[in-house]
Amino acid sequence: MHDFHYVDNRLFCEDVSVAQLAKKFSTPLYVYSRRTVLDHYLKIKRAFSALKPLICFSVKSNSNLSILKTLVAHGAGLDIVSGGELRRALRVKADPKKIVYASVGKTRPEIEEAIRCGILFFNIESLQELGVISEVATRLKKEARVCIRINPDIEAYTHRYITTGTLESKFGVDFQTARIIFLNQENFKCVRILGLHMHIGSQITQSGPFLSALKKVCGFIDELKKMGIGLQWLNIGGGLGIIYRQEQPQTADEYARAVLPILKKTGLKIILEPGRFIVGNAGILVTQVLYNKDTRARRFVIVDAGMNDLVRPSLYDAYHEICPLDNRRMLSSGSMKLSDVVGPICESGDFLAKDRLLPLFDNGDLLAVMGAGAYGFSMASNYNSRRRPAEVLVKGNRYYLVRSREDFDDLTRLERIVG
Ligand code: PLP
Repeated sequence: MHDFHYVDNRLFCEDVSVAQLAKKFSTPLYVYSRRTVLDHYLKIKRAFSALKPLICFSVKSNSNLSILKTLVAHGAGLDIVSGGELRRALRVKADPKKIVYASVGKTRPEIEEAIRCGILFFNIESLQELGVISEVATRLKKEARVCIRINPDIEAYTHRYITTGTLESKFGVDFQTARIIFLNQENFKCVRILGLHMHIGSQITQSGPFLSALKKVCGFIDELKKMGIGLQWLNIGGGLGIIYRQEQPQTADEYARAVLPILKKTGLKIILEPGRFIVGNAGILVTQVLYNKDTRARRFVIVDAGMNDLVRPSLYDAYHEICPLDNRRMLSSGSMKLSDVVGPICESGDFLAKDRLLPLFDNGDLLAVMGAGAYGFSMASNYNSRRRPAEVLVKGNRYYLVRSREDFDDLTRLERIVG
């Protein structure tokens, strides 16, 4: 499942001691296992091999250039949502013909740059956006390729902040709007509509919601066919859940088995946009215990990583396993007690774990926050004027600093003092 494991009670990433990395690069520190990233990518690729889909890694989940390069070098395309992510894709020399671009708020300059680059297509999210894409393409005298992102109005049974396929959410267009778009295609000059896109949410552990959404979308494809409208692509988005705690998410094989029959029937070229599934369990956040604090109500383990480094617990109440780098702590301690692992940020919502049975740690002990590879560093901020952490990529018995810790000058570099 992933390449973080204990050897003689010391946590290793592949063949490298995580404590050694913490000593060398300090904490907080993101550590990624390259082997795990590739293993997950290949799992999904193999599971869907009957259809030879284009797998576009979702850059937002982890946009580190070395992670992107690793995947691109193994044939992956990229799913992007901003001009910044397009720049990252180009930095790793991703093939523009394997880049798809979603987002409800693409700006004119972003659209122009993506058209000039020749990306595979935009996933359009509103009628107005399609109008703007048409306008920009006409001005550039170029053709813009698009897929219509359908909002199939399906409950994904995940956290409401990462539910994206119900009509309560801002994403995609409903079937009626899509119908109107297809029937009025000729009004959108310099635009070619190539297919449909859906992405109903993230951390979805069962195939049921995907199937329900696909049934609706495929029904619509049939309807279009009857109207003489043929498509080339069907992009089924990302969203596959992973194990953070004791979830039993569908495996890539189970997911493929569930959806392959319906996908095959469409006869369309298929795109997947996994993010979390590929990188979620391929990364950890290493942090150091600063203080222990007992109040009459709770025990707090105060660590040097906070919600600015990993916001998922604060934002989604997400669960991340906490593992000491030296597991003898867990095994030998007689003083296990329910504890909150909290950061140094001035917010009561700043926590990495709540109500965990943990031993009494010594100040300086190192902990791993597991499953931090997706939406970890990519959602990190400088809140409380904290420097964003360094990132290390492990490859077998070698390791590479793939992003340095920000320095204090980075925090103020773009500011100008006006008294
Ligand atoms: N595609 C789109 C359009 C998304 O918005 C997202 C994430 O929000 C993804 C793919 C990746 O989702 P996940 O990381 O759950 O696979």
